[in-house]
Amino acid sequence: MQIHLVRSRILFHHGADTACGYSENEVKIKAIEPIAVSLPMHKPVTMAGETVARADNMLIRIASDDGVVGWGEAAAAPTMTGETVPGMIAAAGYLAPPLLGRPADDFAAAAAAMDAAMYGNTGAKAAIEMALHDLVARAAGRPLYALFGAKRRSRIPVLAVLGSSDEAAGLAEAHERWAAGYRAFKIKVGLSAPEADAARTRAVCALLKRSAAAGGEACLVSADANQGFGIDAALRYVAALGDCPLDFFEQPVRAHDLDGMARVAAAARVPIGADEGIHSLADIERHHARRAAAGVSLKAIKLGGLRAVHAACRLCDRLGMKVNLSCKTGESSIASAAALQLAATVPALAWGLTLTSHGLAEDVTAAPLRIEAGHAVVPDRPGLGIEVDERRVRQEVSARRVA
Ligand SMILES: [Mg+2]
Repeated sequence: MQIHLVRSRILFHHGADTACGYSENEVKIKAIEPIAVSLPMHKPVTMAGETVARADNMLIRIASDDGVVGWGEAAAAPTMTGETVPGMIAAAGYLAPPLLGRPADDFAAAAAAMDAAMYGNTGAKAAIEMALHDLVARAAGRPLYALFGAKRRSRIPVLAVLGSSDEAAGLAEAHERWAAGYRAFKIKVGLSAPEADAARTRAVCALLKRSAAAGGEACLVSADANQGFGIDAALRYVAALGDCPLDFFEQPVRAHDLDGMARVAAAARVPIGADEGIHSLADIERHHARRAAAGVSLKAIKLGGLRAVHAACRLCDRLGMKVNLSCKTGESSIASAAALQLAATVPALAWGLTLTSHGLAEDVTAAPLRIEAGHAVVPDRPGLGIEVDERRVRQEVSARRVA
């Protein structure tokens, strides 16, 4: 077991004798506990501008006054949200106290209280909000997706991330993932010269689309530059793609360079997606109004919670924009399960679902979220549908304290 809890816990606790003024019948928030973990990955994930070798995440454990427990999680994402694990732990010190004693199921009030207590810190807020949803769904004995509406899909294709910058290795990886059942793919680019990245993209995309055509199957193939190109390099990349039938190309340029995004989108034959540039519903509207993106990648840590992601999906549906739902690299079965639960209920999911827990060598549950033949099946068990192995987590805390 190599889960390292890098900091002991702080417990925010609501005393039993404290008057709170809420109805006695409600499930109330009793205690909120942020826990820092550092999880080993199977192998480092390299993106333009970032290599993730260990998963440094904050877990949130929320207990109700009648003993039900919910879990949430957010990955450190210094280049995406500006948040680190020590920063999120500190943020929890501002966000948790105003929630104690409140009804757990008043998600709008909880979000308002957190926003009133602290600007930004969307990852820390998302982890707390996720734990509240798990708690409330568990208390009701219902799956988390039921808090958002009807289940629209049960078995969802998961994107395989092809991270190699070498063409032969990329082709081998694509072939292996196709054979394993994956039918949605993301090629990481922005790692080499644009023409070399485009040649690799064309080769991998051609292989996958040929395999799909041979089997009469659908196949989603995307590329993601993670802001790794300047505008000129991005324009060279999309030009060099030629007639490559890529389904979308994500975040070619810097997150807030709307002009650059719009220029690349105007020049590209493939649809452009925005990821790092989307932190709010207003960001989505801006990209749409400027024709800077045809779709978006949505993460709870960027938008500040599951409610905001669901609202963003509904907005995209109204605007005719495509949606990819995603975890942050290194997030465990907690955040992955939350993304899967949301994916079951959003209006549309044309650009697929990206889960990250299978990239971890150690997870926070004895039974990690399963991806079988490239697809995740939405569990109907209460809450997130996974059981955090709390004893393992506690034992590791004690071991680290002794050490
Ligand atoms: Mg991305």
